[in-house]
Amino acid sequence: MSRVKIAAGNWKMNKTAKEAVEFVEALKPRVADADAEVVVGVPFVCIPGVKKAVEGSNIKVAAQNIHWEEKGAFTGEVSGPMLADLGVDYVIIGHSERRQYFAETDETVNKKAHAVFKYGMKPIICVGESLTQREQGVTAELVRYQVKIALLGLTAEQVKETVIAYEPIWAIGTGKTATTEQAEEVCAIIRNVVKELYGDDVAQAIRIQYGGSVNAANAAELFAMPNIDGGLVGGASLKLDDFEKIAKYN
Ligand code: PEP
Repeated sequence: MSRVKIAAGNWKMNKTAKEAVEFVEALKPRVADADAEVVVGVPFVCIPGVKKAVEGSNIKVAAQNIHWEEKGAFTGEVSGPMLADLGVDYVIIGHSERRQYFAETDETVNKKAHAVFKYGMKPIICVGESLTQREQGVTAELVRYQVKIALLGLTAEQVKETVIAYEPIWAIGTGKTATTEQAEEVCAIIRNVVKELYGDDVAQAIRIQYGGSVNAANAAELFAMPNIDGGLVGGASLKLDDFEKIAKYN
């Protein structure tokens, strides 16, 4: 099965609403003929402006978080209906920064994945090991566990629409990219867990990205690996030239 690669930018806490609109206006013509599906993961406050700016283009918009409840006493949180109402396409969940600084767990990731689908969006679920965990040789075990809990209770059709981003924590924002072999090895492990849980049909449909210091120079090699279906890109997604090259990786 040929899967469409996905180049998703994770802007993190960068750009004001005005800067975000200026950036996507400039990005639109550059990626109009991109090989990959292009997604920008923007701060909540940028979503309305960016959605309007990308109208009629091939750029999709992701939020960087969601609360699993529909509404209620959850100060500072944003719910599925609120994001769906803005036309959000994807929601990044379980990013290691959210796990580290905001107590995200595999269980909350799972609840959020259900909320994303309930309101008609698609999740980009992040998993990955720390340097200590890699050095202890538990990467495969850990990532298998993270994937199993994240997908708990999702239907086969939902899992086909899910994107999993394998992001080794030691490679995020550090300039240390995993080797293509390391990235491919873990992405293949993830595809295999999905196969065990949902069968080969679903495993061949789900898209598994690599994330961790993806840049214009290494994207083509990473994306050429059989189990790597694109990248979740932090720092390089804030630079027009770099993100354009990543989206046109061929
Ligand atoms: C990320 O934020 O998901 C990420 C991979 O960041 P960077 O590309 O900067 O390492």
